[in-house]
Amino acid sequence: MIPALEDLIEFLRIFPGIGEKSARRMAFYLLKLPPEKLDKFASSIMAVKSISKCPRCGMFTQDELCEYCRSPHREPSTICVVEEVRDVEAIEQTGIFKGLYHILGGHISPVDGIFLPDLNISSLFKRIDDSVQEIIIATNPTLEGEATANYLTEQLRSYPVKISRLATGLPIGGDLSILSSITVRNSLQNRKDQ
Ligand SMILES: [Zn+2]
Repeated sequence: MIPALEDLIEFLRIFPGIGEKSARRMAFYLLKLPPEKLDKFASSIMAVKSISKCPRCGMFTQDELCEYCRSPHREPSTICVVEEVRDVEAIEQTGIFKGLYHILGGHISPVDGIFLPDLNISSLFKRIDDSVQEIIIATNPTLEGEATANYLTEQLRSYPVKISRLATGLPIGGDLSILSSITVRNSLQNRKDQ
């Protein structure tokens, strides 16, 4: 096979769930695209380099601060702590949360070699000032998510903020991003003080 095509197939295989067969199918599909579409595709890949993490909350952004941290319409008194960026989308879809976010970038999982220093946690404590009244811990309803929530709850006790957690009743093993927005909304509305 010609080197350009071989390189492309090799690259496409980096995506989760994409094996040799799918990568080849994608590569051959790209060969059929007109040059202007390929240019657009290439430039949108290059634009990924301009995306960084918001230094305040860990959300992806192309600006200095993310859209939530710099929005005058969000309430800085409440911070919702989630594991991943996709969980922010799940909370946003409920339409009832108007506070700010903090993205941990994962959960504690010693089995997978993920320990506290790997997570975006110390920056959360630094954010807590007089304007913050409540921290909602919205980690996923998994064993690792629970362990992370328990740790955070303990650590936050020494801060003068209300700590709450999503109501139980979420299916165990799930991930906020795969739950219906009605389920997430109910667990947010019925969140429990810690
Ligand atoms: Zn932010």
